[in-house]
Amino acid sequence: MIKLKEVFRMSEDQLYERIPKILLQKGYNRDDMIVFKNDYIYAQGNIPIMLVSHLDTVHSILPKNIFNDQKQNILWSPEGLGADDRAGVYSILKIVEGNFKPHILFTSGEESGGIGASYFVEDILEIPNIKYIIELDRQGNNDCVFYECINDTFIKFIESYGFIENYGSFTDISIICPSWNIAGVNLSIGYYNQHSKMEYLNITEMNKTIEKVKNMLITYPKDPFVFETYKIKKKKRKSKKYNIKTTIYNKPLNSLTDQEYLALERGLLQYDDYLDEYNTRYNY
Ligand SMILES: [Zn+2]
Repeated sequence: MIKLKEVFRMSEDQLYERIPKILLQKGYNRDDMIVFKNDYIYAQGNIPIMLVSHLDTVHSILPKNIFNDQKQNILWSPEGLGADDRAGVYSILKIVEGNFKPHILFTSGEESGGIGASYFVEDILEIPNIKYIIELDRQGNNDCVFYECINDTFIKFIESYGFIENYGSFTDISIICPSWNIAGVNLSIGYYNQHSKMEYLNITEMNKTIEKVKNMLITYPKDPFVFETYKIKKKKRKSKKYNIKTTIYNKPLNSLTDQEYLALERGLLQYDDYLDEYNTRYNY
């Protein structure tokens, strides 16, 4: 049984050693597992939902001193706890230790734009038969965040487990869901003030989400939820009207101002047009 503080104190390298061992102990097959150190750990299970969290944190050092306010059931560290997203990592391991065997993905580089998740979708050619994806990487108590996914049935389904829709900018599922055409949600896992040394974890709230996720793993739907997103009409790019043409035709190239060069470079004025005009004007 892995301990919560242990998950905070371990380096990413150590987690890449330890997590596969835990998964093997819990009945995941070596053949159904991919471990790409510094990118991701992926394990296929027998529950058709994939759980995701990220191993990297924004803090440059590991937390040495971890304090526990037992009254409030809160953890923090003066070095920065790293509960974003080690709380998610711990929660997934806790769920696995509770004898649930969903598909699992631990990534690296989430805080650097989802590098691990990007490699993952490039590497995995066969999309597993899953109903939807749950990431455990959201601050707070009961948020569910869907990013670009606007599948209403899915949103209502997730909210029925006691979450309330909120909005966010990015996490790993922002890469995986559109690529796999599968709906996904990011759920609150009890951390606050992430990306700062003031970060703390509310253990009670984390445990609440763990219980909800277990419920979700038991009562999954028959059909997968698909990724639906806004259809953005691509506007035709129109160049802004500059008065540049009149001012530069009668100039040789090497005397253009920076602004005129910029206009040429950005295609507001085609180089060829420029030459044609130039040639006409000067009869070359
Ligand atoms: Zn995170």
